[in-house]
Amino acid sequence: MEKVDLLQKYRVKRFDQIHGNKESLTLLKYLIANDNLSPGILFDGDYGTCKTCGGRLTARSYFCHNTTPEQIEPCNQCPSCAFFDTIKTETGLAYNTNYIEVFCPDHYMDIKFFRKLFDRLYGCGRYRHGSDFFGSPKRINTFVVFLNEFQRTDPSTRDLFLNKLEDDPSVIFLLTASTADGAKVGRDIRDRLTTIKMNPLTLEESIYFIKEICVNEHIEWEQDGITELAEMSRGIPRKIISSLKIFTSGINLSAGNVNKFLM
Ligand SMILES: [Zn+2]
Repeated sequence: MEKVDLLQKYRVKRFDQIHGNKESLTLLKYLIANDNLSPGILFDGDYGTCKTCGGRLTARSYFCHNTTPEQIEPCNQCPSCAFFDTIKTETGLAYNTNYIEVFCPDHYMDIKFFRKLFDRLYGCGRYRHGSDFFGSPKRINTFVVFLNEFQRTDPSTRDLFLNKLEDDPSVIFLLTASTADGAKVGRDIRDRLTTIKMNPLTLEESIYFIKEICVNEHIEWEQDGITELAEMSRGIPRKIISSLKIFTSGINLSAGNVNKFLM
């Protein structure tokens, strides 16, 4: 049997591929459709609740050549969508002419990096992309900065960020922060951003998602196996997907096998 990378295969590239979080996604899609993302969005949630994919998907939709206010799902075929396909799931740094994505916990988090970044954003070095611009022509004068795990930046970086946040409406910030450490982001920053709350899937949503993958991947399942896996994965989509990998090799998804192979 051909080996399938399930995490790659079920990587979210459209809003309708995110499970659960209906109200949050309705708000997010409304903001995108109405071009109302500035100065920024804060994706707030616990580990594994699809904050990063929410941020990246927002940028994907924003720069896609084929989205319109009526149709904000990325086309996943244009040069801009192709760029977002190249970004690895747990990347530290990714950028293009008008987009930068920084994973704050690694060595890029220091204040020197952010000073340079903000100088670049607001200084005269901006907009030198010419014909290299990757996104939709309607976005050529805007810049999107995605700061992943923002709560892990140091306080001086957050002060600098606060000062810059509303300087220039053509710079849009997308932030993720874990709810547990969310207080570090600070009320003054939060008040200026729109918060999109990301929650784990409910048990019912988890069961639905597991069944969907089982059908797609021809996994034989028993109801108690699905329930067991749904409870074990605590509503974290990535955990559901990675747990199902072993069952694509022909092992039956039963409660016994979930306990035997995954506990
Ligand atoms: Zn596209």
